[in-house]
Amino acid sequence: MIKHHPSESALRSFVEGALPSTKAILISAHCDMCPTCLSKTRSFTESIAVDMFPDLRQNPTILREYISMFESITNDSTLLNPSYSQTLDTRITLDGREFVLPATLARFADRIGEWSHLAGKLWHASVNIGGGSLAQFIYMDRGASVPEHTHKGNELTLVINGKFTDGGKCYESGDFIELNQQHTHMPTAENYEGCLVVTMLDMPLHFTSGWAMLINPLSQLYFKVNTNN
Ligand SMILES: [Zn+2]
Repeated sequence: MIKHHPSESALRSFVEGALPSTKAILISAHCDMCPTCLSKTRSFTESIAVDMFPDLRQNPTILREYISMFESITNDSTLLNPSYSQTLDTRITLDGREFVLPATLARFADRIGEWSHLAGKLWHASVNIGGGSLAQFIYMDRGASVPEHTHKGNELTLVINGKFTDGGKCYESGDFIELNQQHTHMPTAENYEGCLVVTMLDMPLHFTSGWAMLINPLSQLYFKVNTNN
């Protein structure tokens, strides 16, 4: 069961189109998996429509048409990725397991790079989501943990399939996690089968303990495409 959702204000900003594309994509992918948040976005869409066009309140038919039009625009895959085609495979096979991507992420399936092995039981693949930003798919095999780290920007994570623990909390499929620079954390899939997440970060990680401080295996992963330093 999904326990971790975007905040109400984030969902409203998402509907208003006021979020950076990275966060909007992850919230959209979360809504693909979360009926509760999908329903909230529809309510926000309706209230925004009424705010903009008060006359719609007296005309439910036109209001429904407006909402339908809005949803058809936001679901138009070609707006996010012109090369999208319905025939794209939306599954990822890792270590013999098959993972189905949420529809929002499936739009970028043809932009996923090669999978490569990180330290321990961690694997990753970058995906170019446009606008000079990269997202990372990270696969934590059973027993894997990401070295303890903090970061200078916001780290957004969506659990696509599986479970992991972090800071005493357990995260499961569909959970949306937003951490900022005040959090130091160490995601671990110690007691579970493999876990696939997608994560986005607007600044590099900064490792705080152990061998990770020396080799920083993940620190280069999250640079934006256009970042030079
Ligand atoms: Zn939700």
